Amino acid sequence: MYKHLDITLLPINLPVGKVVCVGQNYADHILEMNSTPDVDDALLFMKPSTALTPLMPKFAVPEQKLGPCHNETELAVLIKQPLTKACIDEIDAAIWGYGIALDLTLREVQARAKKMGRPWERAKSFDGSCPTSPFIEKAQFVDPQACQISLIVNEKVRQKGNTGQMLRSINNLLVEISHCFTLLLGDIVLTGTPAGVGPLIKGDKLTVNLASTYQFETEVV
Ligand code: ZN
Repeated sequence: MYKHLDITLLPINLPVGKVVCVGQNYADHILEMNSTPDVDDALLFMKPSTALTPLMPKFAVPEQKLGPCHNETELAVLIKQPLTKACIDEIDAAIWGYGIALDLTLREVQARAKKMGRPWERAKSFDGSCPTSPFIEKAQFVDPQACQISLIVNEKVRQKGNTGQMLRSINNLLVEISHCFTLLLGDIVLTGTPAGVGPLIKGDKLTVNLASTYQFETEVV
C-alpha cells in the first residue's frame, strides 16, 4: 500500500490524501496537445488517494483495450498544513517537500471524454494512476521553481523540462487551488507536465530525474 516516504525511504508521518492536479501549465505541452489555455482559471482536476502508488520499483498500466496510457512527468508538492482560501504568504509553511510523480493518462479515454463534455476521472483518476516518488524535505531541496525534471524511457529522453517554465508558479497555484478545494495535510499537488507525453507499455524501463540530483529507476508491468 502507498505511504509517503522520505528520500531515505522512511515513512513520513502524514496521512495519504487526495491529489490535486493542474493541466496546461507548460506552454510546450499546450502546443503538443493543440489546446487553448484558459487564461483566467487554472484547469484543475483531482485523483483520489487510491490513485497513489509507489513509483519504484515498478508500477502497472491499465489493460490495453483502454488504449494508450501516457506518461506526464510532474513536480509533486506534499502538503503538511491545511490551506483554505490561503494568501501567498501562508504557502511556504504548508509545504513538507517535493517529489516527482507520473500523472498517468488514458489518452483515448480522455479524448472521448473531452469530445462528449464528460469529466476526466476515467482517464486520469483510476487506481494506480499516480506513481509517486519519495519526497525531499523542503529545507534540503534546491529552488523548486528552477529545477530540471526529465523522464527517460528505455534509455531515450522522452520528457525534459524546467519548473521555471511553468505558466503558473507553484505558490500561486496553491493559492488558487485553496480557493476551490481545501488542501489537507498529506495531500499532494501535481504542477503540470512539460512536452513529451507518449505511451508507456509493459516492460518499459524508466528513469525519472528530479533537480539533476535525484534519480528514480522503475519499470512498467
Ligand atoms: Zn498532468
